[in-house]
Amino acid sequence: MLNQTFGHAAFRGLQEAVIGEVLAGKSALAVLPTGGGKSLCYQIPSMALPGLGLVVSPLIALMADQVAGLRQMGVAAARLDSTASPAERRETWEAIEAGTLDLLYVSPEGLMQPSMLERLSQLRLALVAIDEAHCVSQWGHDFRPEYRTLGRLAELFPTTPRLAVTATADARTREDIRAELRLEGCLEFVDSFARPELILSAERKTGRGRNRVIELVQARRGRSGVVYSGSRDGADSLAAELAEAGVPALAYHAGLDKQVRADRLTRFLDADEAVMVATIAFGMGVDKPDVRYVIHADPPASIEAYWQEIGRAGRDGEPAEGITLYSSADLSWALRRIETRELADEVRMVQVRKARQLYAMLEGMGCRAAAVRRYFGEDQVEPCGQCDLCLEPPAAVDASLAAQKALSAVHRLNGRFGRGRVVDHLLGKTKEPTPFEAGLSTFGVGTEFSPAGWRDLIDQLLFEGLLREDPNDGRPLLALGDGEAVRAVYRGERKVGLRRAPEAHDPTTRS
Ligand code: ADP
Ligand code: ZN
Repeated sequence: MLNQTFGHAAFRGLQEAVIGEVLAGKSALAVLPTGGGKSLCYQIPSMALPGLGLVVSPLIALMADQVAGLRQMGVAAARLDSTASPAERRETWEAIEAGTLDLLYVSPEGLMQPSMLERLSQLRLALVAIDEAHCVSQWGHDFRPEYRTLGRLAELFPTTPRLAVTATADARTREDIRAELRLEGCLEFVDSFARPELILSAERKTGRGRNRVIELVQARRGRSGVVYSGSRDGADSLAAELAEAGVPALAYHAGLDKQVRADRLTRFLDADEAVMVATIAFGMGVDKPDVRYVIHADPPASIEAYWQEIGRAGRDGEPAEGITLYSSADLSWALRRIETRELADEVRMVQVRKARQLYAMLEGMGCRAAAVRRYFGEDQVEPCGQCDLCLEPPAAVDASLAAQKALSAVHRLNGRFGRGRVVDHLLGKTKEPTPFEAGLSTFGVGTEFSPAGWRDLIDQLLFEGLLREDPNDGRPLLALGDGEAVRAVYRGERKVGLRRAPEAHDPTTRS
């Protein structure tokens, strides 16, 4: 089947092992990286075993894609989702009941409807596959409450093998998947997350980083790429700016008309050179093998999201780049958004932690690919030798003393000022300081760095959670972060390291 139906020469990674387990009638959890060929793991057993293979999938677009692809290869596949007409439904059910269908794609809510379960219970099932299984976990980055109901499948179909597959699951998410989907006793297949074709880099952006994005895209003319934007407006305006600069760029987000989106997707997939400027609405199921770069104009929400989004590049196995632009303002914005969302406390804490872990990786000193793979639970990971940090190992500089000065300045100023004013205070450059401010011991105490040097250090303190930025009518104010951590810095127990020496104060420019 691998050769004849799918046209592949050999199995990849753990595909064969996973398929073997299912063919032996056992349930399993398979964690294979994006592009690792998860779909074959349930498609081949569905075809090989007697009975119908059920595939639970979270997105209609994803189902439509897979079903169309399978049919093209002559596989008897269909989907039942909310967009199907009554006539299509009837036809699909006829095929199911005649036993001529190998694969049926359903949404979780569609599957768990009593009438659906009743009809399916009369049939012989080859397996039940749960695609994107991380959606079951609040710990994952894409929690979907309707996935929770899928645990009942264990009782409803006790003799049918169940296969949960996902591309992104840290250890805690895997535990959740196993508990929620009742896969406790089953084997877990976790493939290496290494993507040696991906060349990673990240850089702090200045301002919104628009010009830098345009520069990066311009330097990659002739190739196709995806630029992720944090907002719909951002995607629209960035696509327009790129188009103005002569780049064949299109915007893609959930605010666009369905037909417009479908047209743009087709244009992107067919073109030799195309740049999609998109929100995260663009992604799952987009399979363009020759995407040569993914640029995050705004950072993703977590390392899982990062790896999934970057992973859309280089699917043909040829070298491809993942470039992330980020700033402390992005982190503050992300944290604020989590704060203001209606979430269970536990979910909120997980999201905050995931955001911080992402920035810790972006700001990290060691190999990026290795950091990501360790995050996913791999051990004994070697540095990739090709990311920006491997190629140019940063020289760590101890900035603990300066950090103490900045923290105590924020403390003494009582969280009343934004970063510009705090920097002025440290440099003793505040225009017309009040006697109170001029009398503080931190006033003018930081003449060792330039203003830019202090801003870098303040960014670092924000990334480490030692400071936070609170909104105040759109003008963020600096306040102390985690108290315990701040005290550890004061006491000298916690060091603050910088990747490079902050820009020094240049006495000749002093007014
Ligand atoms: P994902 O794990 O991201 O869901 P897919 O199942 O969509 O991955 O597969 C990604 C791509 O890899 C598809 O184009 C698929 O045809 C291809 N593929 C899957 N298995 C193999 C294999 N054994 N050999 C070659 N290509 C494969
Ligand atoms: Zn590296």
